[in-house]
Amino acid sequence: MTRLLSCFAFSLLLLSNTACEHQTDDDTKVHHHSIFSFGTIIDVSIAGVDEATAEQAFEQLEADFRYMHVTWHPWQRSALSRNNQLFATSEWFSDAPSVRPLLVKAKQLAVSSEHLFNPAIGKLIRLWGLKDGEHETGLPPADEDIRKLLQANPRMDDIEMSGIRIRSNNPGVFVDLGGFAKGYGINRAIETLEIQGIENAIINAGGDLKAIGQRGQRPWRIGINHPRKAEQVLAYIEVAGRQSVFTSGDYERYFEYEGRRYHHIIDPRSGYPGTGTQAVTVMHEDAALADAAATALFVAGPEDWYRIAQSMGIVHVLLVDSDGNIHMSPEMEKHVHLTSKPAKIVISKPLS
Ligand code: AMP
Ligand code: MG
Repeated sequence: MTRLLSCFAFSLLLLSNTACEHQTDDDTKVHHHSIFSFGTIIDVSIAGVDEATAEQAFEQLEADFRYMHVTWHPWQRSALSRNNQLFATSEWFSDAPSVRPLLVKAKQLAVSSEHLFNPAIGKLIRLWGLKDGEHETGLPPADEDIRKLLQANPRMDDIEMSGIRIRSNNPGVFVDLGGFAKGYGINRAIETLEIQGIENAIINAGGDLKAIGQRGQRPWRIGINHPRKAEQVLAYIEVAGRQSVFTSGDYERYFEYEGRRYHHIIDPRSGYPGTGTQAVTVMHEDAALADAAATALFVAGPEDWYRIAQSMGIVHVLLVDSDGNIHMSPEMEKHVHLTSKPAKIVISKPLS
């Protein structure tokens, strides 16, 4: 019962927002292209350039996203899966330059999130089988199997790096970058566009996106999915300049068993899907940070999100708790237009 539909619905929503304006002037026309990668449709919109420049950029991004997806897969044949096999030996080895920068950044983000963002729990993530729907059984794993993997206590700081060499001093470490690879990849893709002289663009991967510049004279308008009403929008956020907006939700990939929802965001402390939250949206210039923070704050939940946001250097947060109440930082409130009133809105102390 994995719900992928909402991603498609969102993509269409963003497209329909922009596709209606087909003016002949290159300064205002928005060019669109869709790429399938990271298990979702990535919509690229570019404004303020001619057709040929846009086409060239689309071709480059198509090749880059295909490469990133293959290279960062945790268990299919890839640069990262090679690391995972060798981490299990505890021996030193030299790894590929296509994965090392992600591991460096993932280590920092794991520490600043108090290890609620913990990509080292890849074995647990695989056990739950919700990643690509590939190993989904519709049943939760046995408690005993979860307990065994938890006991190994895999953490990103078990990974040691020395020059070109790397190793894990804990054989239980198995890195799954699914919580932030999309954000990291989108950062790289935006850099690629900027190198080509493109100043106005948005890359939207199933509702997770980064924008630069604006569209015509207006800011980009982003819809945030409602976590419980499929294909409906909970809120709109207007972004101008360089901003990323990332959402982690329990509605993205899940199954239901005996009346309970089991989703794809795992609380590294319990080994079970995080509870207390339906969705978290984070806005930050750095898409990799926004992506990792959305995952971490989801796990942190309504009680602890503020502390973790502070330690990760995040200022703009919107969290929907398991009762449908909205928790927001005052900085985020300024950018958000809710489409309907929730039962309760809690505005936190400032984060900046
Ligand atoms: P996101 O949609 O960005 O929250 O990412 C969810 C994906 O991140 C999952 O499909 C897993 O691959 C991975 N993941 C799940 N739980 C965690 C966690 N606590 N820390 C880091 N990555 C996680
Ligand atoms: Mg994430």
